[in-house]
Amino acid sequence: MPSAYKRILLKLSGEALMGDDKYGINRNIVEHIVIEIAAVTQLGIEVAVVVGGGNIFRGMKSAGDGMDRVTADYMGMLATIMNALALQDAMKRNGLISRVQSALRIEQIVEPYIRNKAIRYLEEGKIVIFAAGTGNPFFTTDTAAALRGMEINADIVLKATKVDGIYSSDPKIDANATRYQHLSFDEAIAKNLQVMDATALTLCRDQKMPINVFSIFKSGALRRVIMGENEGTSVSS
Ligand code: UDP
Repeated sequence: MPSAYKRILLKLSGEALMGDDKYGINRNIVEHIVIEIAAVTQLGIEVAVVVGGGNIFRGMKSAGDGMDRVTADYMGMLATIMNALALQDAMKRNGLISRVQSALRIEQIVEPYIRNKAIRYLEEGKIVIFAAGTGNPFFTTDTAAALRGMEINADIVLKATKVDGIYSSDPKIDANATRYQHLSFDEAIAKNLQVMDATALTLCRDQKMPINVFSIFKSGALRRVIMGENEGTSVSS
């Protein structure tokens, strides 16, 4: 069966890399994620990744604790670069070739973000990991995922979370919570869901970029989303 998509933008939150730990990068989880990604690259899918940083540093939280918000946000963006390097390292160990492109320049460590180069890497079958979010404070890596997804002409933005989709209420608290198979952008925005921020959702709505929210911890889920199977929650017009 042919896959539903040719080029995807996968958003991995810091929380996803943390697994059940309270902080930092869980190597076993990163290994698992890389194996899930490898399974879809074997189908010939071009994969770009945007990594979050919340497992190491979250700007808004530190600003709430009295830190200057812009400084805190730059620290958050630096955290995403650490995650990107950990991910790249795990990919290399698993035989996947990747390039890290950063929205902030740290040239000894990562390449700067250059759109055409990123697209060329994807065409060559390399995975591109976008780090440092949008490069601007006051934004999130969800918004970076929407933005980069559009810039590289991805067919879909896949948001990997711990939960296998968007639910009517928190499934950890409410036993009657049900998973939405599909939501429109307007419904997702109106419900003020915690799963993706409104800036990212609005950008995707305006540019008609479909989204799927799924669990990266469920084995094979990423592959099933790509094959167009009923997995996670799709958000589109
Ligand atoms: N951040 C930012 N601009 C961006 C992306 C991220 O300032 O374009 C900062 C912000 O402080 C944020 C932190 O980086 O809290 C980590 O990103 P995010 O919270 O999106 O990571 P995730 O929730 O996906 O782990």
